[in-house]
Amino acid sequence: MAYQAEYIWIDGTEPTAKIRSKTKIIHKDAPATVADLPIWGFDGSSTNQATGDKSDCVLKPVFMCPDPIRGGDNVLVMCEVFLVNDTPHPTNTRAALREVADKYAAQEPMFGIEQEYTFFKGGRPYGFPETGFPAPQGGYYCGVGADEIFGRDVVEAHTEACLEAGLEISGINAEVMVGQWEYQIGPLGPLDASDQIWVSRWLLYRIAEEFDVMVTLDAKPVKGDWNGAGAHTNFSTKAMREDGGWDKIIAGCEALGKKADLHIANYGHDIESRLTGAHETQRYDQFSYGVSDRGASIRIPWQCEIDRKGYLEDRRPNANCDPYVVTRLMVDTICGELA
Ligand code: ADP
Ligand code: MN
Ligand code: MN
Ligand code: MN
Repeated sequence: MAYQAEYIWIDGTEPTAKIRSKTKIIHKDAPATVADLPIWGFDGSSTNQATGDKSDCVLKPVFMCPDPIRGGDNVLVMCEVFLVNDTPHPTNTRAALREVADKYAAQEPMFGIEQEYTFFKGGRPYGFPETGFPAPQGGYYCGVGADEIFGRDVVEAHTEACLEAGLEISGINAEVMVGQWEYQIGPLGPLDASDQIWVSRWLLYRIAEEFDVMVTLDAKPVKGDWNGAGAHTNFSTKAMREDGGWDKIIAGCEALGKKADLHIANYGHDIESRLTGAHETQRYDQFSYGVSDRGASIRIPWQCEIDRKGYLEDRRPNANCDPYVVTRLMVDTICGELA
């Protein structure tokens, strides 16, 4: 028997990396685990990852799930990129996350990531008229009706695909701007949450192809009085989730405050356009945290204040962030402080 394995990796495009994939047809029985999948390679000179004279890059499978598009025994395979000398490629941000996740595994960090994104069609956000603007923001968030909702058929197909792939998708909603949506992945450990965000993004682009709609993770797709797109990153450690966790949550917020600049610099391209202090954001050059505060850098959900335990929400990461980088920084900063 043969099956098709879609090998997915992250390229070297600046300032925001792109997802690439190609299909390997494997003339064997279906793989039981990711360890059964062979190493593969690609032309790094076509992905900003190598020069033409030394073009070979290596793909090492790290995460596998059923392929909901092809069905059958076919699989999607998330890969890390390596150099031919078997060291991680400079663009391989997962390698550094592996080390930090390993170092602080005893604290059992968990992530729930809210991935926002915007549909485009005909060179403008899906739902924008050919000229001018649609009605101002206000009714679109969690809206219903053909005057407010654009692209729900794509969203439903994507949700179904994530479920069939076995991803830990935990919700979806229409967002504040026309044609803007969100889904959430998690809670999961740092590597799983990040791998699943990347695979779910690949599925989103791939499924939108079928509907002839384009997806962008741009942080501020429309300037002016329109919400940007983020990737709020919810975080907890075992100690935060247990009785007495409140003090740990506050300690986590304080730790994030001490390294605010480092985090902002690594939370995605064009973050200054999105974190303006308006549109449910704190300014990129200011740091604050608070219960229920959607104008803060870090929000603590109200239920956590009542329970005196739970998690915190880092509202700063952009939709176009690299979850391998964001989760690594959060684990390093917070678990390093709590250790
Ligand atoms: P919001 O009110 O900010 O829109 P969402 O419901 O979209 O919140 O997202 C909340 C996210 O927080 C979900 O992905 C959920 O899985 C995650 N989450 C819940 N509990 C925890 C926890 N203890 N640690 C980390 N993430 C969590
Ligand atoms: Mn949300
Ligand atoms: Mn949202
Ligand atoms: Mn949120």
